[in-house]
Amino acid sequence: MGTYCVTGVASGIGQATASKLKSLGHSVIGVDLRDADVIADFSTNEGRHSAVEGVVAAASTSGLDGVVPCAGVGGVVDGALVVSVNFFGVMALVNGLRPLLAQSQNSPAVVMISSNSTTTTPGLTRDDALVYLDGDEIAAQAHFESKGWLAYPAGKLAIAYWVRHSAPAWMADGVRLNAVAPGVIDTGMTRPLLDIDWVKGALDQIPIPAGRWGRPDEIAEAIAFLISPASSYVVGQTLFVDGGTDVVMQPRSHPQPLG
Ligand code: NAD
Repeated sequence: MGTYCVTGVASGIGQATASKLKSLGHSVIGVDLRDADVIADFSTNEGRHSAVEGVVAAASTSGLDGVVPCAGVGGVVDGALVVSVNFFGVMALVNGLRPLLAQSQNSPAVVMISSNSTTTTPGLTRDDALVYLDGDEIAAQAHFESKGWLAYPAGKLAIAYWVRHSAPAWMADGVRLNAVAPGVIDTGMTRPLLDIDWVKGALDQIPIPAGRWGRPDEIAEAIAFLISPASSYVVGQTLFVDGGTDVVMQPRSHPQPLG
């Protein structure tokens, strides 16, 4: 059995992931703003340091076998906060815990949280994601000042790029990096959006072949697979778990039908 750090455990996908891992007999060190083993705020450098320190202390006897950084903000929120929490907070945590993960003898892994907004958002460019990968938080916040809504998909795209780019070096340390890209999932992040007419209208336009929003436990199943040795040969991938939205919104990538 392993010991896993899951952030954002107080709600949604993080909560479902912690429940799933515990149901499999693993130990979970939860991090969040509230209702968690380690209370920390990923929007500040101080909070990021205390999150890493708190997890290292909590794992002092067990060691650490995996990290799933689910803490995040979305919807109609300040672009600067999205930049800080969803990308720089996540990176500070996983990079801060990398040395501890590398000591694990239990097939260590990280599962990052991307999003299908990376491939379905009109106007999103590769350069918007590269701004994040330059590593300058203030510059990234400035970049999105006039187009705050793009900060979210761009940060999630940066995460997917980072996973693909960094996976070989992390693998050299024995740590597997992968990501999931959820579609619209029914959580505390998305439910309030239904009360805002124009956002609800936009959400209603999203084609979902599965015919419904996803549930947090459906994302947790994919995360549990990617964090476990069952996926030992999966490296540097972003797995879309979105009811089919990505495949219908990128029709040009469809092969010609046979026959
Ligand atoms: P949620 O709002 O239900 O849960 C997010 C959790 O993160 C909350 O418990 C919150 O307290 C915590 N959090 C927020 N800001 C924090 C901070 N500064 N420091 C520490 N903790 C903080 O949201 P969710 O839908 O479960 O989202 C989880 C992850 O999944 C996020 O990264 C989100 O971007 C991603 N995601 C969600 C969806 C969706 O449709 N719900 C789709 C794609 C990706």
